[in-house]
Amino acid sequence: AEGRILVSACLLGKEVRYDGRASRVGEDQGRRWLRQMQEEGRVVMVCPEVSGGLGVPRPPAELVGGDGEAFWRGEARVVTRDGEDVSAAFARGAEVALELAQRHGVCAAVLKARSPSCGGAAVYDGSFEGRLVAGQGVSAALLRRAGIQVFSEEELDAARRFVERGGAAPR
Ligand code: SF4
Repeated sequence: AEGRILVSACLLGKEVRYDGRASRVGEDQGRRWLRQMQEEGRVVMVCPEVSGGLGVPRPPAELVGGDGEAFWRGEARVVTRDGEDVSAAFARGAEVALELAQRHGVCAAVLKARSPSCGGAAVYDGSFEGRLVAGQGVSAALLRRAGIQVFSEEELDAARRFVERGGAAPR
C-alpha cells in the first residue's frame, strides 16, 4: 500500500499548538508507524490553524453553538477565550487542509484528538471549563464531508490497518 496520509503537524513534533508546544505521541500509541510513514515520504503534514493565519502561540479557542459539522452549516463559530471570533481563520485553515489532502490523494487523516480544528470525536463545549462534548472539529468535519477517513492519534492501530488495506472500509 502506497497510500499517503494527512497528519496534524503537532503530532509530528512541530511546536504549533496554541500554547507553543507539540503534542506527544507515545511509542505505545504507534508513533513508530507514523515515523515510518514519514520516512517513506507518505505523510502530508498540516496545521490548519497556522495555515489559516493564526500565530504561535495564540489564545485558546473553542467551538460555540455546535461542533465542526454545525460550523459548516453556519450554526456554530469559533471564539477565543477573550471572545474574539476566529471562525474565518478556522475555515481558511480547513480549506487548506482539504486542498492538500486532495492534491496529494491521501487515503486517510490522522488528526489531533479534541482540537477545535482537528478533533474527530469530541471537542470542548465552548465554556472554556474543560468540558468535552461529542462532535468534531472544523477541519475534521470538512475532510469527512469530502469522504476522507479521519482517525486520531489514539486510533493509530486502526489507521495503520486502514492504510495497509489500501484505504478500504473494514469488512
Ligand atoms: Fe495541532 Fe491541529 Fe491544533 Fe494545528 S490545529 S496545533 S495541527 S491540533
